[in-house]
Amino acid sequence: MADLKGKTAVVTGSTSGIGLAIARKMAGAGANVVINGFGEATAIEKERAGIESEFKVKAVYSPADMTKPAEIAGMVALGEKTFGSVDVLVNNAGIQFVSPVEDFPIEKWDAIIAINLSSAFHGIRAAVPGMKKRKWGRIINTASAHSLVASPFKAAYVSAKHGIAGLTKTVALELATYKVTCNCISPGYVWTPLVEKQIPDTMKARNMTKEQVINDVLLEAQPTKEFVTADQVAALALYLCGDDASQITGANLSMDGGWTAA
Ligand code: NAD
Repeated sequence: MADLKGKTAVVTGSTSGIGLAIARKMAGAGANVVINGFGEATAIEKERAGIESEFKVKAVYSPADMTKPAEIAGMVALGEKTFGSVDVLVNNAGIQFVSPVEDFPIEKWDAIIAINLSSAFHGIRAAVPGMKKRKWGRIINTASAHSLVASPFKAAYVSAKHGIAGLTKTVALELATYKVTCNCISPGYVWTPLVEKQIPDTMKARNMTKEQVINDVLLEAQPTKEFVTADQVAALALYLCGDDASQITGANLSMDGGWTAA
């Protein structure tokens, strides 16, 4: 298991779901963490303080909005200023919107491209100089099975996730001789608020009941017929931080119950 004592991990979108599991996993391995994301202030503070007391590390919260490049750079700067370095950057924040392409709201397209794709570019751009200087770093992007295959009604999400797979490869090549790796993890369906929230729109778009959406749309794609857990994704992210993973770079690692094998 990776030992991250003395290192700092910035995890975007870590007030919920997969990001929260990853931030906790990094802290469990000894990293100080910068958590980020939206939510209720007292709930976020409880999470932050909980990480500190449970894992005996330091945790700070950055309220950076992933649609705002200057705030993203500020989040990385906060990590560097507070802890001295940003060694692990996990670009995880993401949103979803489901609609036929001809009705897809333009502002939803712009928001998904900004949060699910451009924010990773801005974070990487800010964190790479320090990683290069110290000759060590791990960049992990939460992509999706939708970085490899498409589903109808998810034009923006599928486009953003295919984009992040390309960004991952490019950054990996640029940093290959600096001991900085860049990979993406592509989960299938993980039971988180992001998945739960898209059920009503999918019910509408496909004229289905909730049970039909879960069984015939979500788990239909997943041969194991089981949801991936956030903790499993976090365990893979932590593995990528270890010495055993030093030669894994530019990879798109599927964790999708066999979805993209079909
Ligand atoms: P989630 O809704 O539980 O969490 C999303 C996080 O992103 C939250 O912390 C939220 O506050 C944050 N966020 C949203 N907009 C933001 C903004 N503008 N600025 C800062 N933070 C913002 O979702 P999740 O399922 O944990 O998704 C996390 C990542 O995993 C996403 O990139 C998603 O596309 C990806 N993913 C999820 C699944 C799944 O089935 N849940 C599958 C594949 C990939």
